[in-house]
Amino acid sequence: MARRAFASSADLDDKPQTLEVLGDGVYALTAEGDPNVGAVEGEDFLVCFEAMATPVAARGWLDRLREHTGKPVRFLVLSHYHAVRVLGASAFGAEVIVAHDNTRALIAERGRQDWESEYARMPRLFKEPASIPGLTWPTLTFSDRLAIHLGGDRGELVLRYCGRGHTEGDIVAWLPRQKVLFAGDLVETRAALYTGDAFHREWAAGTLDRVAAFGAETLVGGRGAVARGPDAVAAAIGQTRHFLRVLLREVGAVHERGGTRREAFRAAHAALAGRYGGWPIFEHCLPFDVARLWDELSGVERPAVWTADRDRAVWDELQE
Ligand SMILES: [Zn+2]
Repeated sequence: MARRAFASSADLDDKPQTLEVLGDGVYALTAEGDPNVGAVEGEDFLVCFEAMATPVAARGWLDRLREHTGKPVRFLVLSHYHAVRVLGASAFGAEVIVAHDNTRALIAERGRQDWESEYARMPRLFKEPASIPGLTWPTLTFSDRLAIHLGGDRGELVLRYCGRGHTEGDIVAWLPRQKVLFAGDLVETRAALYTGDAFHREWAAGTLDRVAAFGAETLVGGRGAVARGPDAVAAAIGQTRHFLRVLLREVGAVHERGGTRREAFRAAHAALAGRYGGWPIFEHCLPFDVARLWDELSGVERPAVWTADRDRAVWDELQE
């Protein structure tokens, strides 16, 4: 049997993008499992959430947004450090680029390697990669909570850190008035989870508890369709937790009995493929997910840096 193509390197067909208006001045752009982005109108400015992989890709989103509002982008909020969410930042012309303290540290520590790794894994998302001017540096960071006052009677947009999860520095953006939550990659809606830089045990427990506690009625996850209504929001958080728990159970059992990482991958694949195998990026993510969880269970506190070389080595060992 032919080897599976590396990560998403063979996924080269453009996905149709859908702009959804979630409330007065609240927007999301989803794309059938590609990374989602969003925007919130202030009285005389915009807050954008996530930046896409390149300035050229981001310009496509901004052109769509400009059909609804011409306000300038004052704040660009980055939910975490992953390249496909931050490297398009220069297209926004934002006054302020906001992220978590840990995200700035992660960009300094591993931003360059992550860029090379994600480019090889997901080349389609890097539209005109030469348009990227360099790493994206947040200009305002925080540790727990930051409120952006939207002006007029629009209330505020609250940025919150919910604990370690998809990475060490994920933040969510919460609109209390409309009960809309932009959850970043802490929640996926009908897309597989990437956990290669994750803290699985904390994410599956306290972090998702804190995400659920907002009581959102609309949730924009990192990938997949917008969850509309409390039941759909609960389902999205529930399936994220379920995916993590199955991974923890399966990989944990093999680790506990002294098995190999390859056996753990096979066990996790067998347990997850029935429900999640058809979802976007499932095959792409699982080897990296199992590799990180194996390290986590072995006592490796912080995720090892992914490089283009390490990606290939893990892929060749686990995926076939
Ligand atoms: Zn991510």
